[in-house]
Amino acid sequence: MSEKPEKETVSNSGGTFLSVDIARFALDSANVGIWILDAKTREFLPSDRTKALFGFSPEEDMSFEDALRNVVLENRSTVITAVESAIKNHSSLYIECPVVIPPEKKHRWLSITGGFSSTDLNNDFFSGISVDITEQKQNDLRRSRFIGIVSHELKTPLTALKAYVQMLNNWAKKQKDSFTIGALSKVEKQVKKMLNMINSLLNLSGAEAGKLHLTKLTFSIDELISDVIEETLFITATHKIIMSPCEPIPINADRDKIEQVLVNLLSNAAKYSGTEAPIEIACTLKENTVTVSITDQGMGIAPDDIEKLFLPHYRVKSKETEKVDGFGIGLYLCSEIIHRHNGKIWVESEPGKGSSFKFTLPSS
Ligand code: ADP
Repeated sequence: MSEKPEKETVSNSGGTFLSVDIARFALDSANVGIWILDAKTREFLPSDRTKALFGFSPEEDMSFEDALRNVVLENRSTVITAVESAIKNHSSLYIECPVVIPPEKKHRWLSITGGFSSTDLNNDFFSGISVDITEQKQNDLRRSRFIGIVSHELKTPLTALKAYVQMLNNWAKKQKDSFTIGALSKVEKQVKKMLNMINSLLNLSGAEAGKLHLTKLTFSIDELISDVIEETLFITATHKIIMSPCEPIPINADRDKIEQVLVNLLSNAAKYSGTEAPIEIACTLKENTVTVSITDQGMGIAPDDIEKLFLPHYRVKSKETEKVDGFGIGLYLCSEIIHRHNGKIWVESEPGKGSSFKFTLPSS
């Protein structure tokens, strides 16, 4: 039986290198910082590059709290929650956080990736890398500003078109002109579909720029749900939608954006389940919090994917999902919108059995 060499080596014409050296060369040239967080003592061991990314010199000590102090205030609790939950659940960590480097207050975006090593059987060391993604973020911002402007320009004429089509449809109904009614209903469905897409793009650009503007008013969530079911019949016509009886629940929120959340969740339930399977919508009120659930009997989602589902552009890669079109922005937008309303959004799912997407909102 061959014995495993004590230290792994790699050779080429230039010599023999320890794999640990190769890892160091690669990390240096890619400008990647590394760090280890002792899961028990919370002692933090950053490399010089990680220190530099957080604005510290190699000579300075940098604890986890020191690093956090340079993270933009509004993002600190998200970073702490993400790290603590990854440690507790033994899951992988991926966060993008803005930091401000004193004294010039220089802004920079970092991505932090981490997890437990599979070779550390004691699970003592939570470790990972930090990378400067400022340039990528600036490009994203430029792209999303462009999307925002284009979508806004497209929305105005399309809204007018929708109104005229509705007027014509009403007129054709009075004339009992069944051919025109049929044709105009199809035009209306397509216009609504385009408006939905444009609204998603507008919200995406707002969310990415950190400017998801809310126009709040008080309305009944149960009425909105009924309207959305009717409005989205063109997406969900293939499925039976069952709405559980729901008492009138007033909420103070941005109606259009909550509508967008419902449309996204309903169309996903239809997209990711067989046509025979019904979709159920329910809403309940408990201690001033309304919970809305949209439950399908579709393909379901694996636990590993659930963790990343609400990240921008994340799509599950499987034989079943590759046949379904999408950009992976719907759930990201839903979570941005719900969090901006001080609500929560999550999914309970079992592969092969179905998924239940739920969100909460404070009632007014
Ligand atoms: P898109 O549907 O455009 O890909 P979303 O952000 O709405 O983007 O959804 C992200 C991913 O989550 C989807 O690609 C899909 O894999 C998964 N997903 C969303 N809703 C469901 C659902 N009801 N059942 C199963 N998988 C879902």
